[in-house]
Amino acid sequence: MTAGQPAPTRFRAYGPRHIDEIAARHGLPDDIRETVRRISLVLPFRVNSYVLDELIDWADVPGDPMFQLTFPQRGMLSADDEERLAKLSADPADRLLLREAVQEIRARLNPHPSGQQELNVPTQDGARVPGLQHKYRETVLYFPGQGQTCHAYCTYCFRWAQFIGDADLRFAAPDPGGLLGYLGAHPEIHDVLVTGGDPMVMSTDRLRGHLEPLLDVETVRTIRIGTKSVAYWPQRYVTDPDADDALRLFERVVASGRQLAVMAHFSHPREVETDLARRALARIRATGAVVYCQAPLIAHVNDDARTWNALWRAELAAGAVPYYLFVERDTGPYDYFKVPLARAAEIFADAYRTLPGLARTVRGPVMSATPGKVVVDGVEDTPDGSYFRLRMLQARDPLLVGRPFRARYSATAAWLDDLELDPATPADLAAAVRAGTAPEGTAR
Ligand code: SF4
Repeated sequence: MTAGQPAPTRFRAYGPRHIDEIAARHGLPDDIRETVRRISLVLPFRVNSYVLDELIDWADVPGDPMFQLTFPQRGMLSADDEERLAKLSADPADRLLLREAVQEIRARLNPHPSGQQELNVPTQDGARVPGLQHKYRETVLYFPGQGQTCHAYCTYCFRWAQFIGDADLRFAAPDPGGLLGYLGAHPEIHDVLVTGGDPMVMSTDRLRGHLEPLLDVETVRTIRIGTKSVAYWPQRYVTDPDADDALRLFERVVASGRQLAVMAHFSHPREVETDLARRALARIRATGAVVYCQAPLIAHVNDDARTWNALWRAELAAGAVPYYLFVERDTGPYDYFKVPLARAAEIFADAYRTLPGLARTVRGPVMSATPGKVVVDGVEDTPDGSYFRLRMLQARDPLLVGRPFRARYSATAAWLDDLELDPATPADLAAAVRAGTAPEGTAR
């Protein structure tokens, strides 16, 4: 360890089994502890020592945004479901009924939104390729099997079904073989997004086993790594035993002539502002990787313009690129976290207005929906009433990219499906928005 270098900390995860320990250490009131215990029967719960000790302001619990981000909360399930779980978990004889209730509640929470299972899993030689999603022509998503956890879990995670131990609901590739075969048959794919879960939970040796074979595929020009590790465990790049090896691996990808993009998930400025996070970002950038930042807009966590303005400024100050503000997807405890599109557009505009020019790389609010990424560009008032101005930022069908359209203004609509399209919308666009269209080679 050199002077000024933080001391290494061993990663330790805490889950539902440790709730009493956490409660005792941080003075969590009994009712909140019981809520966490109950809700985490249905939804995944995982934190670690860094989240507990450095990110959560325990004096402000339960309102603290980092507590809301990582701990299950009252209101995430309906009162009836909570009561049912409380009753069934009180009696060990009801174990089987409890398990059935948990399954039934999970199934109601739309575990795979936006057609991920039905539309995005590609086929080759008539069989589905496990651990891949192919939604946009040039980009494939790759889910390495050993990277399907995270250093902590976000309560709003749209991939929560990855973490509940149900193999049927899980995207996971045992090794890169299927991906390599698929890339061979699809030279139009230039961009591989390695995602999860969080691929950076893997040891560097494992990660190398997934990344290095991609360097032999001439058609792959960009490798993206989707990760929240800088927010939840920045030690991964600073003090972990294989932190330096991970950075050497990043350098190797860059030296191969590929663009390496670290798609960093930051939900709140506090995650970027710790000394460790800033060091991690500096070390990642020194490898030649570019850090792009994105997160959804979430009630109770970051639903105000000041928070986003501070977040984007902190990202810029750390040399990272503000990239996307997403709209929360219709899955899991959606009603608890959702923010209406009208309010999201207002927050985005207010936060954007006073940004320095270099931070205006950010786009939003964006719905990553079945047909593609749809941005809400604002609201327009016309003699015929008010409309949302919308645009396809990305689409399954490349011909639709960039096309603007409108939908009737609604103060409560929170997702594309809630909107009434302007009848003047061109038929091809309207059909795609309503149904989604798939690129060649993609399962429907
Ligand atoms: S880091 Fe990403 S994948 Fe992991 S729990 Fe959070 S949102 Fe989900």
